[in-house]
Amino acid sequence: MGITGIYKCDLVVYDGHKVVVIDVEFNSDYWLKLAADVNNFYLKFVYRQLTSGGENQNSASTCRKEVQLAVSAKTEHYPCGKCGIFLAENVIDNSEASINCECERKCGQWFHWRCVNFTPDPELESEPPWFCPKCVRNCDIVL
Ligand SMILES: [Zn+2]
Ligand SMILES: [Zn+2]
Repeated sequence: MGITGIYKCDLVVYDGHKVVVIDVEFNSDYWLKLAADVNNFYLKFVYRQLTSGGENQNSASTCRKEVQLAVSAKTEHYPCGKCGIFLAENVIDNSEASINCECERKCGQWFHWRCVNFTPDPELESEPPWFCPKCVRNCDIVL
């Protein structure tokens, strides 16, 4: 429900005699907790599985490309780890931009730049790994 954006659905159970329909409402608190785990699972197991080796190099690289698209599409549905607002689908300026935590613990959380006071350094060609405030605290990372 969190991924498809549906706020209400029916859970239909048939026990062989009668059908029971239960209204299920979207629980955003639960979803926020779940989203980070789902992201972790996807990146750690599904993504790794799809991108590791393969007999046919060509098909492996096509596959990798598709997976990368899927990953970036997925992050669009992620709530900011700070404010909980879902990350923008089309980022048009820096106020919508987001960054993900790359700590060893792989908390997998995404944050709005504005929520973590992040500004990219224009001098650098590629951004150094970024760690969320929680991971910085928990891992004693020295920045
Ligand atoms: Zn935010
Ligand atoms: Zn983190």
